[in-house]
Amino acid sequence: MRVLIIEDDPAVAAGIVDGLAGAAIEAHSVGTGRAGIDAVLAGGADLVVLDLGLPDLDGTEVCRQIRGSSDIPIIVVSARGDEVDRVVALELGADDYLTKPFGMRELLARIRAVTRRTAAASDAAPAPEAPRELGALVIDPRTRRVTLSGAEIHLTPTEFDLLLHLSADPGTVLRRPDILRDVWHTEWYGATKTLDAHVAAIRRKLGDPAWIESVRGIGFRFEPQGTP
Ligand code: CA
Repeated sequence: MRVLIIEDDPAVAAGIVDGLAGAAIEAHSVGTGRAGIDAVLAGGADLVVLDLGLPDLDGTEVCRQIRGSSDIPIIVVSARGDEVDRVVALELGADDYLTKPFGMRELLARIRAVTRRTAAASDAAPAPEAPRELGALVIDPRTRRVTLSGAEIHLTPTEFDLLLHLSADPGTVLRRPDILRDVWHTEWYGATKTLDAHVAAIRRKLGDPAWIESVRGIGFRFEPQGTP
């Protein structure tokens, strides 16, 4: 796996590259958002660690541009207090986030979790399940395509996995810790903001928040809307 670090602070970038090398993960860094986007589009990376504070482009804009043409896993890194940017990045399709300062162990755990998720997605066992028809929505686990009233909805790999998980048993309330464990493979409760951001993104793409109802203090309930 090749990890691309998009980070303008050379010391931080070098620390991450060295740390990943110590874990036998190939990594390189670029110092601007533009160079990062170019590297991803050139196929030079399998996973991106994106600092949101960059000199040339806003990190959220980098995230949006990468997502415009690539499903590559993106872990965003933000400074404490940059909560708004982080949520925006997650809604734009970033898969996970870390808050500075973070340790290598934490970064490695997030990389492994994101990688497991996307690997599970790409070698999805042959024909695991027939398409699910839920109101106006059709979710096909085999092709990983989603249509709403016949129109294709474009979801990121993580959004798709989350929607698949939530819709497995419509009407049932799913607990946040269980969703984090099953979709993000983490017990880390801090990831719950990541979950909220992905739910928000799916709701927006489905055009109606009623699809995923928040159950205060517990989690979420998937409620099919419309007719097939
Ligand atoms: Ca920075």
